[in-house]
Amino acid sequence: MHADRRFRPYVAFFCMEYGLSHRFPVYSGGLGILAGDILKTARDLDLPLVGVGILWRQGYTRQVLDEHGWPHDEFPHYTPDFCDDTGVRVEVTIRGEPVSFQVWKTEAFGNNPLYLLDAGPPDGAHGWITGRLYNGHGPARIAQEMALGIGGVRALRALGEPVQLYHFNEGHAVLAATELIREKRERGLSFRAAWEATRDEVIFTTHTPVMAGNESHPLGLLEEMGAFNGLSREEMVALGGDPFTMPVAGLRVASYANGVSKMHGATARKMWEDVEGTAPILSITNGVHAGTWQDERIRRAFGEGRDLWEPHMQAKENLLAEVHRRTGHELNPERLLIGFARRAVPYKRPTLIFDRPDVTEPLLEQQTIQLVFSGKAHPEDDAGKHLVQAIWRMSQRFPRSVAFLPDYDMEIGALMTRGCDVWLNTPQRPLEASGTSGMKAALNGVLNLSVLDGWWPETVRHGVNGWQIDQGYEGPGQDHRDLLSLFQVLVDEVIPAYYEEPSRWRQMMRESVAACAGRFTSDRMLVEYLNLMYQPAAAVLQPLREPEPQHA
Ligand SMILES: *Cc1c(COP(=O)(O)O)cnc(C)c1O
Repeated sequence: MHADRRFRPYVAFFCMEYGLSHRFPVYSGGLGILAGDILKTARDLDLPLVGVGILWRQGYTRQVLDEHGWPHDEFPHYTPDFCDDTGVRVEVTIRGEPVSFQVWKTEAFGNNPLYLLDAGPPDGAHGWITGRLYNGHGPARIAQEMALGIGGVRALRALGEPVQLYHFNEGHAVLAATELIREKRERGLSFRAAWEATRDEVIFTTHTPVMAGNESHPLGLLEEMGAFNGLSREEMVALGGDPFTMPVAGLRVASYANGVSKMHGATARKMWEDVEGTAPILSITNGVHAGTWQDERIRRAFGEGRDLWEPHMQAKENLLAEVHRRTGHELNPERLLIGFARRAVPYKRPTLIFDRPDVTEPLLEQQTIQLVFSGKAHPEDDAGKHLVQAIWRMSQRFPRSVAFLPDYDMEIGALMTRGCDVWLNTPQRPLEASGTSGMKAALNGVLNLSVLDGWWPETVRHGVNGWQIDQGYEGPGQDHRDLLSLFQVLVDEVIPAYYEEPSRWRQMMRESVAACAGRFTSDRMLVEYLNLMYQPAAAVLQPLREPEPQHA
């Protein structure tokens, strides 16, 4: 290990959610699972990186379907017995009221330390702040972001963590910058000088490919909540504009930024080209933690050069047993199994495969294809809930060939990305910034059948390691083109390959694993963070800041 801290700068990673295990429900989806994978990878690589987040006392929604297939939300209390009390308490003044946050720590999942802020029980005075993940708009969301950003920096100080760099994963954490600036002004720096010094120590990752997805808040509301944190209105506007746009602020307080795939980096550069004073946006493609997501039987067989079919069939049987246990549906392990599991949102188009009933329905009736779905909708997203219900209805019409697993979580994600034959991905390009479930599938020899969006254009070789749907067209008529292409590829290529060319299929499975292993894994991603962002940023931190004194 290098003694020079520039080579292994000490990083605090900020994220609203962490997906470390299905047993610890402080995550919603891909953003959190990426963050969890990063903390595990930092541990594997022995990198000095700690996580900062929120202990969501009621987690994210648990969704159960009623007898009409309509999802209902439950927020069970759980005991965070994976966490230890650090003894540290930090205070943030929110809407004029001092709020005390208890700081917990967990390393229970093979991860580097994760510090989680907690404002107390959900029915307590401040439970509305750290009760439920992504439950609030306006004031509640701002309070949560103040907890993460401002409270997070204060927690690091109180813990005595010798942080050099602050990595904001998505815009939720950018209020941390107000605290980093405030600290420096207390030491006598001007706003400009404090901002510049802060910029040297901040890294920003954006995940949004469209303007509409960017979170912004009215300045008046931020001020009322106390989110200015000692800055003036003009200073806040200089950072984030008016209204205050979180990713704009992220790009302006960072020395390096990245998008999460080659394609998304290009999309983000274009999207922000007219905004002044932004950090350069690199493309660093996401990756998944192989130790978490790759089936051990597949990993061993691949490493030993053995055929992947037998371990694959074991994973498929495991999945089908779980489908049967949870839904009563009995699918056939000999028949082609196509999987689709994602957050239930319209842009992912989960029901596209049903949009040509003349083709799909005979295939389902004859069990030429079987479909297994999972997904949950945001509690307030009726469009997403309608998608869940539409899929559930198909599972009632075709019980022998369609199943829907409610309450998508990391456990279902792992089962499905190991046990399906084909992983279907039909987002509306360019809305899937990266997508990581396809990487999990690829690592397990589950063949991707995907639109050219996110990570997939970087590795697809059509008919060799998976298949592409259409040619990457964007614009009017996209749904129709994608639909035609999906069925053409499915009927002319995927189905015949599965039933008529078993040895070719097995070869494709190997190609799929080979194309993904070491490339779309989180160790490669974190090494790129280190080489392309952390080290260059740390190299200009002069002099390197000494660890803050430990508070008693
Ligand atoms: C991997 C994973 C995701 C993210 O997958 P996408 O392909 O980006 O949608 C979301 N939720 C769960 C439970 C996962 O395991």
